[in-house]
Amino acid sequence: MEIITYPDPILMRKAVPIEEIDNKICQIAQEMLDTMYDACGLGLAAPQIGLSKRLVVIDVTGEKTGERVFINPQIIEERGEAIEEEGCLSFPGVMGKVIRSQYVTVTAYNLEGEKLKIEAEGLLSRVWQHEIDHINGRLFIEMMTPASRIANNQKIKEFELAYQNSRAGVG
Ligand SMILES: [Zn+2]
Repeated sequence: MEIITYPDPILMRKAVPIEEIDNKICQIAQEMLDTMYDACGLGLAAPQIGLSKRLVVIDVTGEKTGERVFINPQIIEERGEAIEEEGCLSFPGVMGKVIRSQYVTVTAYNLEGEKLKIEAEGLLSRVWQHEIDHINGRLFIEMMTPASRIANNQKIKEFELAYQNSRAGVG
């Protein structure tokens, strides 16, 4: 699967809940995992592969074990604060500091339709917030500290220009 990059409008859209976990969703989830591992990502949200649905895959250990596919995830509790460098597969080469909650509690469904409750802290908490932002159409550049946003302004403008040119059939 190809990873969609900024500023494709699908990345800014609020994704819709998944009503039924069918074979197609299972297949897409597997392909999303493969795509995430190929890109050395820690997480990937369905809008990033062009599907505006509330589906994310996460594996911060890279061990390819345990629950890694999450349907209709929701943050039910968050606390603390942490500031760390963050990147996004839809923004190749862009890194910036983002303030996030240090702890989150998330509910989601797995592919078997079982409801999960997950407590995460640190890096895993950060990835959860990043991926749930994706399915809400919110991008990490909006969350960056002002200094990081300024430092990345030029790169972000280049993405926008390249997209306009590709739409216009130039280059
Ligand atoms: Zn991302």
